[in-house]
Amino acid sequence: MICLYCHRKVKEEADIITMFKPAEPLCRECRRKLSVWREGRRCGFCHRLMEESWQVCPDCSFLSENYRRPGKIMCMMDYSGEVKMLFHRYKFTKDAALMEVISMFLKCSFGEYDMSIPIPVSPARMEERGYNQTSMVLGAAKVPYRDVLVTDKAGRQSELGKSARMNGPNPFDFKADFDSGTLSGKQILVVDDIYTTGITVHQALERLYTENPAAVDVLTFSKA
Ligand SMILES: [Zn+2]
Ligand SMILES: [Zn+2]
Repeated sequence: MICLYCHRKVKEEADIITMFKPAEPLCRECRRKLSVWREGRRCGFCHRLMEESWQVCPDCSFLSENYRRPGKIMCMMDYSGEVKMLFHRYKFTKDAALMEVISMFLKCSFGEYDMSIPIPVSPARMEERGYNQTSMVLGAAKVPYRDVLVTDKAGRQSELGKSARMNGPNPFDFKADFDSGTLSGKQILVVDDIYTTGITVHQALERLYTENPAAVDVLTFSKA
């Protein structure tokens, strides 16, 4: 068996535990490296690493002044070190097999939600990359999802200032074939790949909240 991440041969580990576990194409060393979280105090809501002098998380306080919050934000991996490499390879070198690797880190009770909704990618990105990196991971994990949103956001928004992004129009909208009422009273899970400042996700949520869901939580594969 070859590790999907480092492409080295995975040693068969013949202990009593692995005998009963299904074979996973990720070696122990890669699993360890991808499970590392940077040391330090974190924001209890968005999981951002906090600087010592901070009483509150600046991202969360900014967002809560301007947007309605999700119920909670769940995060699977710390976007640094090897995890950064993983996402870089996955998103920019078109190594789509890595979606399997990311999907191995998805620990979430998807069954508690009526619907999982991935953050969409713009048509330009879709053309360039050929896939929605978030949906592909959900697919690899066999999690059903619904694409209800579209975006014209060309990416690289993180380079714009916060106010420029907030004052512009919401880059998310419902798909043309979306049936209004579908989300009403539902438990929704919004899924994104990398949570940085959180503006993108909150803009998507703002759109979803117009349809009166019962609750919206966020799952992000990694936190920058
Ligand atoms: Zn490996
Ligand atoms: Zn925070």
